[in-house]
Amino acid sequence: MADNGTGAQDGPTGAQDGPKSQTILVVGGGIAGITAALEAAETGYDVILLEKNPFLGGRVTRLNRYFPKLCHPTCGLEINYQRIRKNPRIKLMTMTEVTDVAGTRGDYRVSIKSGPRYITDACTACGKCAEVAETEVPNPFNYGMDKVKAAYLPHEQAFPMKYVLAPEVIGTPEAEKIRDACPYGAVDLEAKVEEGELNVGAIIWATGWKPYDASRLEVYAYDESPDVINNVEMERLANHDGPTGGKIVRPSNGEPVKRVAMIQCAGSRDTNHLPYCSMICCLGSLKHAAYVREQYDDAEVDIYYIDIRAHDKMSAFYERVKRDPKIRFIKSKPGHIEIGEDGRPLVCGEKTVGREIYKEPYDLVVLATGMEPSLPKDFAPEAGLVRDEYGFVVPAANGGDGSGQFSAGVAGGPFDVALSTQSATAAALKAIQAVRAAGN
Ligand SMILES: Cc1cc2nc3c(=O)[nH]c(=O)nc-3n(C[C@H](O)[C@H](O)[C@H](O)COP(=O)(O)OP(=O)(O)OC[C@H]3O[C@@H](n4cnc5c(N)ncnc54)[C@H](O)[C@@H]3O)c2cc1C
Repeated sequence: MADNGTGAQDGPTGAQDGPKSQTILVVGGGIAGITAALEAAETGYDVILLEKNPFLGGRVTRLNRYFPKLCHPTCGLEINYQRIRKNPRIKLMTMTEVTDVAGTRGDYRVSIKSGPRYITDACTACGKCAEVAETEVPNPFNYGMDKVKAAYLPHEQAFPMKYVLAPEVIGTPEAEKIRDACPYGAVDLEAKVEEGELNVGAIIWATGWKPYDASRLEVYAYDESPDVINNVEMERLANHDGPTGGKIVRPSNGEPVKRVAMIQCAGSRDTNHLPYCSMICCLGSLKHAAYVREQYDDAEVDIYYIDIRAHDKMSAFYERVKRDPKIRFIKSKPGHIEIGEDGRPLVCGEKTVGREIYKEPYDLVVLATGMEPSLPKDFAPEAGLVRDEYGFVVPAANGGDGSGQFSAGVAGGPFDVALSTQSATAAALKAIQAVRAAGN
């Protein structure tokens, strides 16, 4: 199992400290999990930080920039990685998931499943393995919008900075060639899934979110045209290490975009899909409009909306974007998207004000899909976990019943990064209180 590069021991039998454990488990290594882990560890508690991906950072690592200042998320993440590297109280396990939880506050027994990564901690990220790899697989970091070699670094700022071998090549002569190319003997083709158990006193669920599946919005032709994308794909399209090197172009033919549409509430506030507002989609689209306008002087962006939700200090960002005469706000929820004869998507509907019927061609349409919990709805650990009707780990579970399980970030409900980190700090405090109470 991977560690945090501090030389700390970890693995299924690591960090066991008896029936009344003071160790805090954080499940999910996005911005919320990282924050909760650091807050608890820097207060003096042992923390196990468990992440299912081969790298930390969660969805935030895949954002191009942050609203409202449009700064790069990597700066803040890198500072946090430094803090993790320096803190021997944090044991990091990547490619690891929880399969069950039994027990109670102070004495949870957590079943876990890890790997295989096929690359050991001896990896120095020299890249020799990728040089000899031939097979290409869909790049998970870019939501499959491009491909990577079967031996790949998850992304250029990955932490831990270690390669991964795609399971597709295991058992082939190519895998042996990759192993032989590694000067450090860091390729382990015999690696298997490892199972184990952790004993911890409290658990923070920081498992975050996944984008609502745009394929389910059949009227919006997401599966029919490569020029209809969702908002997380737009983040990758604009990013310098995205599928186009940061150039916002038509995915179908690589041509520059002249007309772009954003469709707000794509599946949100809709009883057939996600009945709730995800809070960040309007701000995300304002940001995406700014990305387009930064790249193209002459491009026009139309934002189709029900109402724009940009509260408190975010309203200044909204006002700023609104001042751009090439960004139009059209009050309407489009009815459907057709594909025109020239292959461009046509956004069709009726304007709320004036009742005008429209059918507008665009080079690129971005569906502002909402966030839903990434923890599977049917995940029901033996120790119990209180979740609301949408699957979010609800505040009611947060210790009020003597439970030692808490939520941080979007695992508990739709939040932006600032609110996610605030909730993570709160969760760390509650987890500390829980292990202290159990220890007395
Ligand atoms: C299009 C878009 C743009 C956005 N832009 C901004 C912005 O500019 N500014 C801003 O403030 N917010 C923005 N957000 C919101 C932001 O992405 C979230 O606030 C943030 O990702 C929340 O972090 P998190 O750690 O709670 O969840 P996540 O980022 O989802 O991290 C959760 C982590 O848990 C891991 N995990 C999940 N399940 C398991 C499991 N079972 N076991 C182990 N690990 C698991 C995941 O792999 C992931 O690493 C945007 C959202 C969208 C949709």
